[in-house]
Amino acid sequence: MKNNPYESMLQQLDRAAQLLGYTEDDYIALKYPERELVVSIPIEMDDGKVKVFTGYRVQHSSSRGPCKGGVRFHPSVDLDEVKALSAWMTWKCSLVNIPYGGAKGGICCDPTKLSKNEIRRLTRRFTAMILPLIGPEKDIPAPDVNTNPEVMGWMMDTYSMFKGYAVPGVVTGKPLEVGGALGRNEATGRGVELVVKRLVKKLGKSLNGMTVAVQGFGNVGSISARLLSAEGAKIVAISDVSGGKYNADGLDINDMIKYISEGQSNLKGYNKSGIKEIKNEELLELDVDILIPAALENQINEENVNRIKAKYIVEAANGPVSYEADKILEEKGIIIIPDILTNSGGVIVSYFEWVQNIQFLLWDEEHTNKMLERIIVRSFDEVWSKSQEKGISPRMAAYMIAVARVVEAKRIRGIFP
Ligand code: NAD
Repeated sequence: MKNNPYESMLQQLDRAAQLLGYTEDDYIALKYPERELVVSIPIEMDDGKVKVFTGYRVQHSSSRGPCKGGVRFHPSVDLDEVKALSAWMTWKCSLVNIPYGGAKGGICCDPTKLSKNEIRRLTRRFTAMILPLIGPEKDIPAPDVNTNPEVMGWMMDTYSMFKGYAVPGVVTGKPLEVGGALGRNEATGRGVELVVKRLVKKLGKSLNGMTVAVQGFGNVGSISARLLSAEGAKIVAISDVSGGKYNADGLDINDMIKYISEGQSNLKGYNKSGIKEIKNEELLELDVDILIPAALENQINEENVNRIKAKYIVEAANGPVSYEADKILEEKGIIIIPDILTNSGGVIVSYFEWVQNIQFLLWDEEHTNKMLERIIVRSFDEVWSKSQEKGISPRMAAYMIAVARVVEAKRIRGIFP
């Protein structure tokens, strides 16, 4: 059974609206994305044949500012996934109080089966086809699953070619040479680290020796694991699309990152003494202090929720816990730090990148990291206080804060015409 992530988002929204005492009229517009664009992207493959891929750009809300959200290349990308991800961007930007609305995009494709040139042509044609929607004042894409700074560089160049001049502010997460921000590549993982440290502090515990399992070893998972292990946490398990690695004494994260950076697309062939191979499902069910899902949606669902043993779940991925599983975990008293807070480091530093681009400024990395920490810690504390004050989960506290700000912005602007 595939959980529909947009349905999950709507259920979360309804719950938050109910807690806020809203009538349906107050928030009904937020149940519908403002704009959805579906494009058919023809590409000449390396063998000369033509293939057509489906791409999406969805703008959920522009009530608080230009729309903002990543672009995902994955076989599971469909309209409902992109719609859910776009709404989660609205809540995330509102929660951390940066002046953006929410959007998301993606192409249904398997990038492991495409050459670099095919991915480049796909990216450029996709950018050209969503051109009417994007722009530094309108909608600013960024990297997500299977997209990276290089892909952002191609998007920036394509947009700039149509405009006739360089427009760095049209995308974030770009290479440094074309207007990227120092600290952006690490920002989401750094945010996860800051959130975990804040959680541990609020609990009156120490991170030293706490056991952690991380699902996903891409941009977010690998950097979160590296920074947390440097802070004394024991990362006992890591998995990626090829399966998982377990070592009760802790894995050598730097060595695993080195293995990937030497050109391996995943951890399949990685082996060191003390490592036990585990399945992806087993990783999620390990008896660890902190579980960090950092891959895809719906990884913890009705099927496996009763086997989850972690004490704390820190959602680095977007939507890793289904709505039904979330309710069960909440009843069991497992603390979940929600995605819209945990992984907000990426969009916060994207915001800094865009601010620098549109003003032609350059910040140093120390300043970026300091500002990131200030915003994440402030947002964490707001969520934590609301959750304690109202006796609700951190997720519902985060939704209440985020939804209230968007509804208020909509109320002030009013309904056009
Ligand atoms: P990525 O493409 O860099 O990495 C994804 C990782 O997940 C890879 O290691 C892949 O092998 C692994 N994976 C895929 N399917 C898996 C499975 N079934 N089981 C275990 N591992 C699996 O992507 P990313 O940028 O690290 O994004 C990860 C998550 O974080 C996504 O939910 C994304 O939306 C979210 N996120 C990313 C950013 C960002 O700045 N990159 C910001 C906010 C949120």
